[in-house]
Amino acid sequence: MSNHKTCSICKYLPDSIDIETLHTEDRLPVQEKQLEIIGGLSSDSSLGQIRKCPSCDTYYVFVYDHDSESGMGPGYTDQSLYRISKEDAKERLSKNIHFNQAYIEKLKTESNLSSTLDTVKKQNMKKIIRYRKETKVIESHIKSMAT
Ligand SMILES: [Zn+2]
Repeated sequence: MSNHKTCSICKYLPDSIDIETLHTEDRLPVQEKQLEIIGGLSSDSSLGQIRKCPSCDTYYVFVYDHDSESGMGPGYTDQSLYRISKEDAKERLSKNIHFNQAYIEKLKTESNLSSTLDTVKKQNMKKIIRYRKETKVIESHIKSMAT
């Protein structure tokens, strides 16, 4: 069982919080910055960023959504942070790995096309390295969650 209620970081974080930061003064509690980012760093934003409290091992999802409304509206910046179970975190991290692997394959396929520009191939290679690195980090986190 997580003891987030007594944790010096988590006790300041509600179970779930949604704010809009562009037009309001609302901000997440500062303790949010102490959470360790363990997944979703460079992936598709729909997965959210998976974070972990370094003090009590409670897991969170952080979602950031900025919509400029293509300059047609005022735009908005939404941020959400909510607590999730260890099982949920594990599932999201696994999805993250699958997403990264599929994305790496897609980049490889694109780079193999003869019509792909060298500059694009170079960029793809950089992305592949980054996604591979991230995948390794996520895998090590999943391992440490085994118990
Ligand atoms: Zn905590």
